[in-house]
Amino acid sequence: MIHINENFQKLEAGYLFAEIERRVKEYAALHPAEKIIKLGIGDVTLPLPPATIKALHEGAEEMARAETFKGYGPYEGYEFLREAIAASDYRRFGLDISPDDIFVSDGAKGDCAYFHEIFSQDIKVAIPDPVYPVYADSNVMAGRSGRAENGRYKGLIYLDSLEENDFIPNLPKEEADLIYLCFPNNPTGAAATIEQLKPFVDYAHEHKSLIFYDAAYSSFIQDGRYVRSIYQVPGAKEVAVESRSFSKSAGFTGLRCAYLVVPEECCAFDKDGVSHQLKKLWFRRQSTKFNGVSYPVQKAAAAALSPEGLKECEALVKYYLENAGKIRAFFEKMGFSCTGGINSPYIWINSGRDSWEFFDFLLNKAQVVTTPGAGFGRCGAGFIRISAFNSHEAVDEALTRLKKLF
Ligand code: PLP
Repeated sequence: MIHINENFQKLEAGYLFAEIERRVKEYAALHPAEKIIKLGIGDVTLPLPPATIKALHEGAEEMARAETFKGYGPYEGYEFLREAIAASDYRRFGLDISPDDIFVSDGAKGDCAYFHEIFSQDIKVAIPDPVYPVYADSNVMAGRSGRAENGRYKGLIYLDSLEENDFIPNLPKEEADLIYLCFPNNPTGAAATIEQLKPFVDYAHEHKSLIFYDAAYSSFIQDGRYVRSIYQVPGAKEVAVESRSFSKSAGFTGLRCAYLVVPEECCAFDKDGVSHQLKKLWFRRQSTKFNGVSYPVQKAAAAALSPEGLKECEALVKYYLENAGKIRAFFEKMGFSCTGGINSPYIWINSGRDSWEFFDFLLNKAQVVTTPGAGFGRCGAGFIRISAFNSHEAVDEALTRLKKLF
């Protein structure tokens, strides 16, 4: 008899966005004439930048000719893309990251969900609360937790991100081996400074642990006081891997390309205390389970990092940030306390009541879809997340409707 992976049964019922969709569908069925504005899911709405479209076409043409056709590519991604990443995302900001330490992938979600495969089952995992649900859920699936109690999995270490600590969690109180951090944060929109991240890097050195730094929203950083990369923190290269994505910076959510930086300095230890390079283990894992990102997509990603592509991508980010600024200013004017929306496409709003109740209120009274903070963790209770990924027109219309409610 074939048995299921029992760890899946520990997962809390339903994925947050499935429940939101259910409520929105139910509302739409009852009110078919009303126009719903979605400021919930963090998916981009603007088309791909012209430089990336041109590269996609060129890539397709190359695949059409015998002389330029490409079959399987390198497991870690084409060198032209890894070099472009090292130059545009790191050297341009004074950071020395070798193209040899970069692994191109088809999405940061997979990188977040799979990377922990290279660690032992009994490592202790620390996860901010609230946060992108993939870190916790994928570790639960891997058997690193007990069952959920009051919205928290037993065995995982939770790092509370609260108004009191400006949504930058304190260090783990228990010994943590793998620490997930995400800045600018999804969902709180909080960005972090070198001084705020330094204690985590020092902790990781002291405890021989590792930081998984999710920088999926790094391109939204506008203010130089906040870090785009964990490698801006001295000593981070020995203790941190960094995940980045073209999804939000270049509108690639439907095209799929991301990367993981695994510096050659980063190590983990076997039971005898002997150190092993993570980069080697990750290469071994990728070469077994992953056959790379398609050539035209990698060409498009490299084009997003060309001088022309960078300008176009910056314009995309600015467009969404304009929405974010307006949304935040509106809610602040209405007397709500807000974070994010300045160096992040997300605005995190303290609703002062139950977050699902506030979600339903905004849906029913203004036909505006948001995301209830409770879905991102216990500390998200009472908050909602609003996403700036929509047209200026849709955001203006949403704010006009919301004005009538407060
Ligand atoms: N990390 C965070 C914090 C995210 O919010 C998302 C997507 O919303 C991802 C990773 C996944 O990005 P990708 O589209 O590259 O899989």
